[in-house]
Amino acid sequence: MTELICIVCPKGCHLKVDEENGYTVTGNGCKRGETYGKKELTNPTRVVPSTVKIKGGLHRRLPVKTSEPIAKALIFDAMKLLNTIEVTSPVKRGDVVYKNILGTGIDFIATRDM
Ligand code: SF4
Repeated sequence: MTELICIVCPKGCHLKVDEENGYTVTGNGCKRGETYGKKELTNPTRVVPSTVKIKGGLHRRLPVKTSEPIAKALIFDAMKLLNTIEVTSPVKRGDVVYKNILGTGIDFIATRDM
């Protein structure tokens, strides 16, 4: 049995996930908590915020994030990819700055105009 706090909404329900019984989740206030609890123990993922170098912008770095949550095991390698690129202003919020991170089909996108 693993205990964790649901981070899907501010309520922060205390979940218990029973790995020995099909990852049964209890303590969740809604269905999203059940999905989160199961996923957190089988294939945990996160949206990854970071920054990337930008040429000609107001600041030297542009804030970015992954377009969808990616596997936690890939986060370190995904961040390293950002060190290999430099984007050029102007960039619009939502623009793709790095496509198909590590073959996942997930992109890094800009989170502001610059
Ligand atoms: S289980 Fe539902 S109500 Fe509870 S914190 Fe997660 S999303 Fe919010």
